[in-house]
Amino acid sequence: MPALSSTLDRFQPSAISDIFTLTATLKAQGKKIYDLSTGEPDFDTPQHVKDAAVKAIAEGNTKYTPVDGSLAIKSAIMRKFSRENDLHYSADEIVVANGAKPLLADAIRTLTNPASEVVLASPCWPSHVGMIEIAGSYPRFVRTTEDTGFKMTPESLAAAITPKTSVVLLCSPSNPTGAAYTHSELEGLSAALARHPAVWIVSDDLYEHILFDGRSFATMAQVNRSLASRILTVNGVSKAYAMTGWRIGYAAGPRPLINGLCKIMSQAAGCPSSVSQAAAIAALDGPQDYLKNWANSYQRRRDRSIAALKGSRALRCAVPEGAFYLYPSCHGLIGGTTARGTRIRSSGDFVRYLLEDWNVAVVPGAAFEADPYFRLSIATADADLDEGIRRITAAADSLSYQG
Ligand code: PLP
Repeated sequence: MPALSSTLDRFQPSAISDIFTLTATLKAQGKKIYDLSTGEPDFDTPQHVKDAAVKAIAEGNTKYTPVDGSLAIKSAIMRKFSRENDLHYSADEIVVANGAKPLLADAIRTLTNPASEVVLASPCWPSHVGMIEIAGSYPRFVRTTEDTGFKMTPESLAAAITPKTSVVLLCSPSNPTGAAYTHSELEGLSAALARHPAVWIVSDDLYEHILFDGRSFATMAQVNRSLASRILTVNGVSKAYAMTGWRIGYAAGPRPLINGLCKIMSQAAGCPSSVSQAAAIAALDGPQDYLKNWANSYQRRRDRSIAALKGSRALRCAVPEGAFYLYPSCHGLIGGTTARGTRIRSSGDFVRYLLEDWNVAVVPGAAFEADPYFRLSIATADADLDEGIRRITAAADSLSYQG
């Protein structure tokens, strides 16, 4: 067989994939799995958004659009940035892609050279790491823990930036920890960034609308306008509007960067779906009041789940400020033995035990560059979430310890 690309040796498959495969196998065998592993809203896409897509199809709005999105969707995105973030862009400072994920991957390719470094906080979203490695760059992690609310400090960020740094990648609210930087925390980070004019800043704002306890959203481009010429602000409709399958992500930033991004996208991706663009316009321009209701539902689930996890002797869980994940520590379970005699040596062992013996699917912390933790999604129907959490605490408390 001819050789495959050496690019494939640069990165590891996601540590999530083993669990996804095993979960799919068990489901195919007809087992009821309490699946808390996936990161997508359990709410349905709103009806007015679906209607806009049906109308687009009926009207023959089914052909290629410009690679970086139609003027109509760019205008809706400009209105969104202006209304919600007090950020004012022109159409040539906006780009639309088939999801924030490919957009972020192309952005990293646009902003890095081989062997340059991208600074990001860990725990982090696995794809951020994968896309950095595929681009031939290296992730440089700022390790964070519960002690700093899983947040970088100006000092820890400054210490991670070196002459090799091309990009600082921010993600707030964070997948997987739910840490959400306040305006003043971002101000602190921006002071560190201001001292490094050769460094780009990419802000992944996908979970903007999922914030708890009355917090308001802040993003770097708004917090420190003097950095605007080197910030790419990335967002999308997936998480906000329950539109994960529609594949629309977008970004705003300085023209040279947007032009570079479009150059890559024009050869590698093509335009996002015309029908999905019509749906996304309806989402962005339509009523926004239900977003608050959804965030309140996530908050109620967060509170219930954290209270239930507290019932376990061995689990600890920081309270997320946003997004729809919990990221409990299972440090206290390491060294325990299951009823079948299996020793728990890592979060991966506990996650496998949860799936095989308790039929609950969660994601091991190794996938997020921080262990021993695991991630569970509260964007899960109430009954499944509650039973899943009950089983997690029961599994944790079922372990025995020698001596
Ligand atoms: N950014 C973060 C932090 C995410 O968690 C995800 C999806 O899980 C994405 C980006 C990708 O979103 P999209 O569905 O627009 O590709």
